[in-house]
Amino acid sequence: MSLKAYLNDIVEAVVTTAKGMRITARYGVDPKEEVTLQYPEERWEMPEGYRGFLHNDIKTCTACTMCVRVCPIDCISLESVRGADKKMVLAFYDINIGRCMYCGLCVEVCPPKSLKHTSGYEKASVELGELTLHFVAEDAAEIKARVARQVAEAAAKEAEAKAAAEAAKPADVSSESAKAPATDPKAAKEGEDKG
Ligand code: SF4
Ligand code: SF4
Repeated sequence: MSLKAYLNDIVEAVVTTAKGMRITARYGVDPKEEVTLQYPEERWEMPEGYRGFLHNDIKTCTACTMCVRVCPIDCISLESVRGADKKMVLAFYDINIGRCMYCGLCVEVCPPKSLKHTSGYEKASVELGELTLHFVAEDAAEIKARVARQVAEAAAKEAEAKAAAEAAKPADVSSESAKAPATDPKAAKEGEDKG
């Protein structure tokens, strides 16, 4: 390396260091130039449309399974049973946010728009299982048993109502036919005349 190139390198190092220090000094003294946040006391406000953790409003969810089928990496799992009113009842609805890549496809396809992104992004855990969000609080087995009971009760009531309706029907179809004349008198007379 020539002496000139060596000296140029030194000058360049001094100039770039001075530039860097000027920026550092500006951020250090001007409060408007603050770039750090006193997390966790302070938090960034997420921009509109930010895709954070998912939330499903299970009161609106119809258990159609569209979100499950569209998810490219199988983050969502659900089970449902048909209730006495023929609507589907969720036994469980889980989302694995540790696996989710926040692509938003499930939100896009959700027909009643019960599934939404929130602005949430913080969840640390030492247990992988804790990264699965459960949206149905009640135990799945209990829900299924309860719904099965309701379906059976509704079926029994329906059968009872049907039987009562059958019993209330006039049971006189045979007596009506008994009342009707066995032969048409006019036709009978015509027959006699011919004879
Ligand atoms: S955001 Fe994407 S990856 Fe996450 S659950 Fe929905 S479809 Fe799956
Ligand atoms: S797509 Fe929406 S309505 Fe259908 S199961 Fe998923 S969250 Fe529920």
